[in-house]
Amino acid sequence: MLAGIDLGGTQVRVALARSDGNLVTSVKTKTPLLKTPQGLVDWAAREIERLRGNQKVTSIAIGAPGPIDIKRGVLVNPPNLPWKNVPLARMLSRATGAKVHLANDADMAGLGEFYRGAGRGTRNMVYITWSTGVGGGLIIDGRLHRGGHGTAGEIGHMIIDPNGPLDNCGQYGCLEVFCGGANLAKETGHPASELFAAAARGERHARMVVERSARYMGLALISLTNAMDPEMFVLGGGVTRSWKLVAPTMLETLRSSPFIKPARRPTVRRARLGDRAGQVGAVEWARINQ
Ligand SMILES: [Zn+2]
Repeated sequence: MLAGIDLGGTQVRVALARSDGNLVTSVKTKTPLLKTPQGLVDWAAREIERLRGNQKVTSIAIGAPGPIDIKRGVLVNPPNLPWKNVPLARMLSRATGAKVHLANDADMAGLGEFYRGAGRGTRNMVYITWSTGVGGGLIIDGRLHRGGHGTAGEIGHMIIDPNGPLDNCGQYGCLEVFCGGANLAKETGHPASELFAAAARGERHARMVVERSARYMGLALISLTNAMDPEMFVLGGGVTRSWKLVAPTMLETLRSSPFIKPARRPTVRRARLGDRAGQVGAVEWARINQ
């Protein structure tokens, strides 16, 4: 059997699947209730033990927020958890006896959408999670692209406008500083959810901010298309709940590139698996690396 774990700042989910990747069952809990990395490991190992029946779980993948050290299986410094340099893969492997792979959460969500969601049937696909932050995963020639240094790529910090504002990442005008929910909240003084609600009601300033971020996301799609010619972009994350607000401007921007002819213009789709994408992708990653 396989297990896929999706570790987020608010929730953690464990899914069990047969060795072909078909899900058997899944459970979740609130991450803060587990308190420490050891608390997380104990809970996950206990749930896996309870749910596996008389089957053996041989391969587990964990999708976690970056930065992470993929090669060593270490959670370096997650932005929304007060944990540092946690050798999570080794800890869980010791507790379960299984092989454990630590991976980037956006990569896992992308893999989930690629195998079992909106991206099914493609070979080259870019997944973008558009939420509090902006991240992504690249599927190239049917495989998840791995970084060259045991790292995952950082689509959210591509520079879109060098004259733009300074982001937490230390660069000016990256995608996330224009589009990330946390930055939009900082800029407008309201939670991103309120900003999008106000834009939906037609409030002028809110509409302007939302449209601007949709335009910058469209520019990112142009650059990504020029870099790797994907067949499809799949967009997930909280902001895509406001699809009708962001999609027209984003698509119009992509179509406005005279250089990207219709023949190589990628399809743009909304993610299909919702907040299950991460666990589904983690199961697939456990399958591939079993
Ligand atoms: Zn940045």
